[in-house]
Formats: sequence, C-alpha cells, structure tokens
Amino acid sequence: MKKDDCIFCKIANGEIPSKTLYEDERFRVILDLGPATRGHALVLPKEHFANLYELPEEWCREAFALAGRMAGRMTERLSCDGFNLLQNNGEVAGQTVFHFHIHMIPRYYGDGQIIGGKQGKADQEELEAVRRIICEGEEQGRGTL
Ligand code: AMP
Ligand code: ZN
Repeated sequence: MKKDDCIFCKIANGEIPSKTLYEDERFRVILDLGPATRGHALVLPKEHFANLYELPEEWCREAFALAGRMAGRMTERLSCDGFNLLQNNGEVAGQTVFHFHIHMIPRYYGDGQIIGGKQGKADQEELEAVRRIICEGEEQGRGTL
C-alpha cells in the first residue's frame, strides 16, 4: 500500500520525478539528492514500509538481492573501489525518511567518507552478558528465529 504523505512512496511510484537507475514492478533505484559519494543510490520499494521491522521477509530478500545486482553494475560503470550498503531504522540510527530504503554508497580510495561510528573493545564477560539477553531461551543461538 502507498502512503499519501510519504515522499518516497511518490518517488518510487513515479509521481515525483527522480534520477532513476532501475525500475521493476516492486522497486525503483534512484540517485540520492545528497550524495555521500559519486553514485550514491537508494533502493526504494514501491509499497510503503516504514522500516526494516515492517518489511516482509520476501521484500527484504528481493531488496538486498537487487542491491547486490546493482552494486555489480555500478562498480563496473563507475569504477569504484568498494561499496557500503547502509540501512537506517529509527531516528536514533539516522533515519530521516520513514519509508524503508537501502543506501548504496560506492567507495573510492581517498573519498574521505566515514561510514559508521567509532567502535569500542568489549571483554568476554560483556559479550557473554549481551549474548544471554539476545539468546535467552535459545540453545547457543541455535533456536528458531
Ligand atoms: P535516511 O537518513 O537513511 O532516512 O536517508 C534519507 C536519504 O534520502 C538521504 O540520504 C537524503 O539525501 C535522501 N533524500 C531525501 N529526499 C530525497 C529526494 N527527494 N530525492 C532523492 N533523495 C532524497
Ligand atoms: Zn512510503
């Protein structure tokens, strides 16, 4: 279903023009208006899902499979040196448009971009405490999901 007040619903369905790289029945891939690097693109489903939590598994599979195929073509055509896929959920994670999308960010040596924040260092005890919370009631993460 589309959402009337959602800009990405309008872009994905062609009601607002965009620099489209690819389109099929379910998805549109467009160039980001505020590119982090040359060729920064977004994979948009044509139906409205606010975020990853709302995205049905089949759409999820297709979205990432499409991003994988696009990354191959874009790497060839743009001669980039690598790729980041980024997918933000929730304001705290940097999401500003609340319609699921995957950022495809071509990377070039010397592009100066920093994707992702600084990382710390955890000891085994901390890791185990977190693991227990996430996997409670499961056998070493082998339970159903
Ligand atoms: P996020 O912060 O993950 O929600 O990403 C939203 C992205 O959408 C940002 O990278 C914006 O630059 C981009 N964006 C916002 N409006 C438009 C638009 N009309 N056309 C293309 N990209 C857009
Ligand atoms: Zn939408």
